Amino acid sequence: PPRVRFCPSPTGNPHVGLVRTALFNWAFARHHGGTFVFRIEDTDAARDSEESYEQLLDSLKWLGFTWDEGPEVGGPHAPYRQSQRMDIYADVAKKLLDGGYAYHCYCTAEELDERRELARREGRPSGYDGMCRTVTAEQKAVYEAEGRTPIVRFRMPDEPITFTDLVRGELTFTPENVPDYGILRANGAPLYTLVNPVDDALMEITHVLRGEDLLSSTPRQIALYKALIELGIAQGIPSFGHLPYVMGEGNKKLSKRDPQSSLNLYRERGFLPEGLLNYLSLLGWSFSADQDLFSVDEMVAKFDIGDVNANPARFDLKKCEAINAEHIRRLDVKAFAEACTPWLRAPHAPWAPEDFDQAAWEAIAPHAQTRLTVLSEITANVDFLFLKEPVQDDASWEKAMKGDPVALLTTAREKLEAADWSSAESLKEAVLAAGEAHGLKLGKAQAPVRVAVTGRTIGLPLFESLEILGKERTLARIDAALA
Ligand code: GLU
Repeated sequence: PPRVRFCPSPTGNPHVGLVRTALFNWAFARHHGGTFVFRIEDTDAARDSEESYEQLLDSLKWLGFTWDEGPEVGGPHAPYRQSQRMDIYADVAKKLLDGGYAYHCYCTAEELDERRELARREGRPSGYDGMCRTVTAEQKAVYEAEGRTPIVRFRMPDEPITFTDLVRGELTFTPENVPDYGILRANGAPLYTLVNPVDDALMEITHVLRGEDLLSSTPRQIALYKALIELGIAQGIPSFGHLPYVMGEGNKKLSKRDPQSSLNLYRERGFLPEGLLNYLSLLGWSFSADQDLFSVDEMVAKFDIGDVNANPARFDLKKCEAINAEHIRRLDVKAFAEACTPWLRAPHAPWAPEDFDQAAWEAIAPHAQTRLTVLSEITANVDFLFLKEPVQDDASWEKAMKGDPVALLTTAREKLEAADWSSAESLKEAVLAAGEAHGLKLGKAQAPVRVAVTGRTIGLPLFESLEILGKERTLARIDAALA
């Protein structure tokens, strides 16, 4: 069975691209009965943060992902935080140096820049030119006397590297496009280029599924893997699959800094994990030609990395919202009511906690469930039930009270007073009759009533809302509007 890994660096806030990568790895592992390894790539002390680490764990849990090996759960290859594996990398780097797979490079940044510039002007490949591949002991002594501290560079083979990408098919990289690359900094700190494939090898990863932005590191990693196999550190080379770019507004790559890409934003707006995952799975994959609404379990049952499309995927917020709305409708009403709880409490809810009325909430919930796109919309939709007075929204008021609403509201009040309050239908007839008395259709007649009672021009079905609010409070609000 396959072993896959999700190995983010704890920098900044989790974003949707990261979630898509986690999802595809997780679905692949679950589909094949494999192992999902969660590893934290925190070797860059300057950029990594503990806060970001906590957020990653929290986000994965919220999304409903479980990991078989990783932080908190442990596993046979622990620790799963690279910051706790530094001696392993130092040891492997030493073996690579001793075996001649890597070498000390004394070139300074200025020298490298200069030579790169020259190569560019002369139309030659501008990557590292291999200058230090053959430093003699004498040269070494001179460099060291000059106070230079070397980095460690991996020696790339001089022949092309070919592999079959699970998404893109066969790819070949020629040596001039993949120059020797650094694996240890001058201060001895290991780089992503080393720690990532070393851990993949030690953790016996069989499939590397990751974003297209990492495609250029794959030939390097394959070459390093070959060295690790010769050194007896790796057993084999994993298969690689590169997931397509996600494009945002204006067909530009969705970037980490794009507000649209922040996972926290979706959480705060009240997306359901199932809705968000459903949508994100469509970024590069499809369930079937005629169905784009499905559960995570259905996705897992069907997921095949071979079906992932190499073309860039477009992130469409409207579609993401529409899919989420469908998932909200699919909940049973109890689960829906439960999912809304955070938005019925402080700090979201503007009403006093003691004014919240559970019975009224349970009565209105089914009407709200079919109308929400995201759960956070619930607050404004039900606040009329729990606030002592409806919100004061001047724009709504102006819009609905155009002309002379006093006559209409007065008649509506009379008719509502006489109506049967155990039936929303009877309340509708009351407002309909009031409208007729003033030559207004139902839509025009109900607008001032709605604004007087709820404070807004749009909201849940009006007559059900009035019924739940109750006769006394409804009439008092119309009186207040008339006063
Ligand atoms: N830590 C790397 C990143 O977050 C992992 C890349 C990979 O999957 O190899 O970009």
